[in-house]
Amino acid sequence: MYVKLKVKCAVSAIVIFLAGCLQPGEYRWAVHDINRPRPPVVTPGEQLGQAPSDAVVLFDGVDLDEWESAGGGPARWKAGRGYFEVVPETGDIQTTRVFGDCQLHIEWATPAEVKGNGQDRGNSGVFLMGIYEVQVLDSYDNDTYPDGQAGAVYGQKPPMVNACRPPGLWQSYDIIFRRPIFDGDKLVRPATITVLQNGVLIQDHWTIQGATAHSERAGYEAHPDKLPLKLQDHGNPVRYRNIWIRPLD
Ligand code: MG
Repeated sequence: MYVKLKVKCAVSAIVIFLAGCLQPGEYRWAVHDINRPRPPVVTPGEQLGQAPSDAVVLFDGVDLDEWESAGGGPARWKAGRGYFEVVPETGDIQTTRVFGDCQLHIEWATPAEVKGNGQDRGNSGVFLMGIYEVQVLDSYDNDTYPDGQAGAVYGQKPPMVNACRPPGLWQSYDIIFRRPIFDGDKLVRPATITVLQNGVLIQDHWTIQGATAHSERAGYEAHPDKLPLKLQDHGNPVRYRNIWIRPLD
């Protein structure tokens, strides 16, 4: 009986060891393995919320060099004095660079002067890959459909809590986005998203249901591995500042 148990344990240990050897990632290493590669050193920003050393800075407070109009040509939003602002009717803007998996930090403020209600108050949006929107809206004492309030994955998933500051104040989104994987036209793995608003978790590794659409469920359509980040002109003068991104692929 005892010998049998010992053999069983030995076989299990060998199976676990072999499985570990075959698996990529964490299980390749012994516990406390001194030969394990060290994580790269990244210097954090001097102040909380500032870009770390390995980030791509998408707005440094001065110009829109990293941006262009989503409809073609230069971005026509107003920039300077540390922020840029949506100029209504000039169209969405997008980055000149393309991104897939990423960590994004972006700060925004809806107009201090409150105008309109529901979706017409401080509406803009952060479109990961130009396709998947995290809603920007003045959701401070402003009711609307929950899957369209600030921090919602628009049309799909309301934020877990409403962590909005009053209009006119700066707010932050910290977003961790994993792009969808396609094999030809076939979806292999949907995108996932985690969002913190003003340091508060509002989307927890949510599986995105497909492209953002209005009043419909659009599903996924195959697209390139990297695409521009887009910001929405929804007709309201929303402001943005301190935007940086860390590609994770
Ligand atoms: Mg929007």
